[in-house]
Amino acid sequence: MDRTASHNLDTTLTSQSTNHLSPVLGRVRIVRVALDTPLPTLFDYRTEQSVTPGQLVQVPFRRRQIVGIAWELAQKSKVKPDRLRAISTVLVEMPALSEEWRNLIAFAANYYHRGIGEVALQALPGHLRTPTRWARLFSLSSIQCYRLVEGAAVSLRDNVPIRLRAQRRLAMELIESGVLDAQKARTLCSKASEVIKQWVAGGWVTIETVTLNSAESTFNVLNSSTNNDYAKHIAQIKVANIYKDASLTADVKSTSSSSDEKTLTVCQAHAVSTIAKAIDTRLENSPFTPFILHGVTGSGKTEVYLRTVAKVLQEHKAQVLILVPEINLTPQLECVFRARFPREVLVILHSALAEGDRAQNWLSAHRGKARIVLGTRLSVLASMPYLRLIIVDEEHDPSYKQQEGLRYSARDLAIWRGSHLKVPVILGSATPSLDSWKHAKKGRYICMTMPERGSPDAVLPTVSLIDLEIEKKRQRIVVQEGLSQQLLDAVRDRLKCGEQSLLYLNRRGYAPVLACDACGWVNDCSRCSAHLVLHKLERCLRCHHCGIESRIPNTCPNCGNLDLAPLGRGTQRIEEALSKHFPNARLARIDADSTRRKGSAQGLFEKVHAGHVDILIGTQMITKGHDFRNVTLVGVLNADAALFSHDFRAAERLFAQLMQVAGRAGRAARADSPGDVLIQTRYADHPLFNALIRHDYEGFANQQLEERRQASLPPYTHQALLRAESKKLAQAMDFLKIARTMAKISELADPLLSLWDPVPMSMVRISGIERAQLVIESPSRTALQSFLSVWIVKLRSLRSPVRWHIEVDPLEI
Ligand code: ADP
Ligand code: ZN
Ligand code: ZN
Repeated sequence: MDRTASHNLDTTLTSQSTNHLSPVLGRVRIVRVALDTPLPTLFDYRTEQSVTPGQLVQVPFRRRQIVGIAWELAQKSKVKPDRLRAISTVLVEMPALSEEWRNLIAFAANYYHRGIGEVALQALPGHLRTPTRWARLFSLSSIQCYRLVEGAAVSLRDNVPIRLRAQRRLAMELIESGVLDAQKARTLCSKASEVIKQWVAGGWVTIETVTLNSAESTFNVLNSSTNNDYAKHIAQIKVANIYKDASLTADVKSTSSSSDEKTLTVCQAHAVSTIAKAIDTRLENSPFTPFILHGVTGSGKTEVYLRTVAKVLQEHKAQVLILVPEINLTPQLECVFRARFPREVLVILHSALAEGDRAQNWLSAHRGKARIVLGTRLSVLASMPYLRLIIVDEEHDPSYKQQEGLRYSARDLAIWRGSHLKVPVILGSATPSLDSWKHAKKGRYICMTMPERGSPDAVLPTVSLIDLEIEKKRQRIVVQEGLSQQLLDAVRDRLKCGEQSLLYLNRRGYAPVLACDACGWVNDCSRCSAHLVLHKLERCLRCHHCGIESRIPNTCPNCGNLDLAPLGRGTQRIEEALSKHFPNARLARIDADSTRRKGSAQGLFEKVHAGHVDILIGTQMITKGHDFRNVTLVGVLNADAALFSHDFRAAERLFAQLMQVAGRAGRAARADSPGDVLIQTRYADHPLFNALIRHDYEGFANQQLEERRQASLPPYTHQALLRAESKKLAQAMDFLKIARTMAKISELADPLLSLWDPVPMSMVRISGIERAQLVIESPSRTALQSFLSVWIVKLRSLRSPVRWHIEVDPLEI
C-alpha cells in the first residue's frame, strides 16, 4: 500500500529554510513524516541534514508549523521537487523513537484502521507535540557527569576492592556505560562525589559539566531532569506515608528491604518460578506465551509481580511496564513498588498528570532511565527501549478499552507488544476475561491459579444472598430506601465491633428518576435518550450523559401536581438513609460526584485506610484493587438490572464486578471471623449468584463460554462496528445503508463474513446527536481485517457529512 501523498500545498508560502542547513552536505534527502492528520498517509519532506527514523521534527503543514515524526527515509518522492517543502527543525536533543515503538504504532494504526501519524503523535505527551515546549524540556540547566578515561577500565576495576560494594557498583557502571551523571552515581554509591575525586586523582575518571543538548548528542541515556526527579522522589515518599495505617506499615517494612522476607505460598512460588523459567529461556527460540495469573482477591498477585519484576531488573538495562485499569489504583501500587525497589527510578503515566510531569516521566521511560513504568492504558504506547516484562493487572477490566479516538484495547496491545519482543506478559485477574480464559483453555496462554488468599490468616469471605422477595413478604424491607433489615442488622454488628462496612451501589446521585404520580411525567433530558438524575445535595437534575443541569421543579411541569416523587435510589439516597439509621456512624461516599475535585478521591481513600470511616458507600470506584484492611462486611444493594441486559457481556461484567467488590471483605480477617458479603436480589435462584456464592469462577466462565460458542458470539467470532452519528437518525441510518451496499456482492455472500443490518443504537441520542451502527462479524480475524481495509477506503471516498468511525473488537454493541 502506498502511504505517501502529496500534501496540500499552500503556494503562497515559501518553504522555510532549515535551521541546520549544512553547506557541506549538498545531497537532498526525502523523509516520510508522520503527522497528526486524519489522512492515513505519511507526508514527504526534503532535508539536507541527517535525519534518523524516529526523530521528532518540525515541519510546515499548510499555513502552520507542526510536529511530526520522521518515519522512514526515501530516495524518491511522488511530489514534484519544487513543491516538496523542507523540514524546519530536527529535534536532535531527543533520542529517536525505536523501530520497536514504530512497529507497535504501525500495528495499532493498521489493526484499528487509523492513520499512523494520528496514532503516533497522540501517543506522545502533549508537550512533545508543542515545539514551544521543547526548549524547556530539553535545554535544562547543565549537569555534572563523570567520564571514564579511555583505556582506564581494567586499572580502575583492579583498584576497587570487591568488599567495597557500593564503590564497586559505581566503578562497574562507569566501565559499562563510559559516562554517568552525578545523580545516578549517587544512587549507586552515596559517597560518589568523594570517591570520584580520588578516581580523578588516580587518572581514571574526568569530571565534566554538560548542558543537556551536547550531553544528549554524546550519550543519549543520560538523565536530563535531575532536580525535577529529586523533587518527585520527595513527593513520592509523601505518597508512601499515606498508606501507613497500622496494618500496612508492617507490610511496607517487610518489603522495603531488598531481601524479600515474605515466604511465598506454594501457588505463588509456582507462578514465580514458571515465569522465571520463561524469562531465562527468552533467548532460546521459545515460542511466546502470555501468562494468566488467575488469583482470587487477596491471593497475593502483587507479590508475584514484585518477585518477577525483581528478577527482570537484575538484567542491567531492563525496563518493566505495569498497567492498571484506573488512575485511583496507581498510588497504592506505586507505594508498594517504591518500597520494594527504593533504588530504581519509577515513573507514573496517566492522563491526570500535569502535562509537564507527564512529559518528563515519558521522557524518562523513553531514555531508559525509568526502569519501572506504572500507568493506565495509555502507557502501553510509551516508548521503552529496554522493555522486558509487561504486567496487566485486572486484565478483564473494560477500562483497558479506549472509548474514543483510537479505540484500542491496551491489554491486547500489551500482548502484541510482548509477543513481538518475546518478553513475558502477565495478565492478572480474579476473573479473567472470557477472551483470555478461552486462550487458556486452548493452551495458548499459560494459566496459573491461586485459589487461596496469600496471607495465612485471611480466608475468602462468605457470600450469601438476601432474597428481597422474602424480605418484602416479611415486611423487613424499607422499600424506599432499598435496604433490607438483614443488611442493616449486619452493619450494626460491625459498628459495634469497630469494623468497617462497605456498601456498593453502582448508581450515583440521589434518584435516577423524578416522576409525577398523577400524570406519569418523568424528567427526561432534552438532548439525550435518558432520564435526568436527581442530585439532592447539589440541588439539581443532571444528565449523566451530556452533563446538562437544571433546577428541580417544585410542581409537575405537565399537570401542576405538587407531589413529585424520586424513584429508585442512588448513592446519595443510601447515604441519607444510613445517616438516619446510624446517626453516630462516620459515613463516606465515594463516587464521581464526591471526588470531582482533584485529589479528593485520594483523600477519601486515605480516610478509609486510616480507619476514620465506619460505613463506606460507593460506586464501582470502590470495588477495584483497594486493599481495605478493616472492612469485614460488603453489601451489594442492587445488581439485578444487569442480569437482564441485552448486552451479551453483561453477565461476564457483573460477575467480575461482584467478585471484585466481594474481595474487599475480610482481607485481613482472622479465620474465626471471615468477611461477609451480602447481596440483595430478587432473583436468588439465578445461576450467576450461585456461582458467586461458591466462588466458582471456572464453572461460571465455562458455562458462559459454552453459551457464547453456541450462539457464535465473541470470543468465538470477531466483531467490528461501523458507527454513524448525525443530528437526524435517518441520515445516520442512510449512511450505513449505503455503506452496506458498498461491500461487494462476493463479500456479502462470503460465509466468513456477515454484515448485519444497520440499527439505531440502544441509546440513540447523546447531546443531540443520534447514533446508529452496523455490526460486521467474522470467525476469522484475517477475513474481517482484510474486508475492513478495502471497505474503509470506499467509505472515505463517500465524503459524507455524516460523522462515522470503525471500531474493532467493540466491548459494547
Ligand atoms: P491480590 O492482588 O491478589 O488481590 P494482594 O497482592 O493485594 O492480593 O495481597 C493480599 C494480601 O496478602 C496483602 O496484604 C499481602 O501483603 C498479603 N500476602 C501476599 N502474599 C503473602 C504471603 N506469601 N505471605 C503472607 N502474606 C501475603
Ligand atoms: Zn404531572
Ligand atoms: Zn443529556
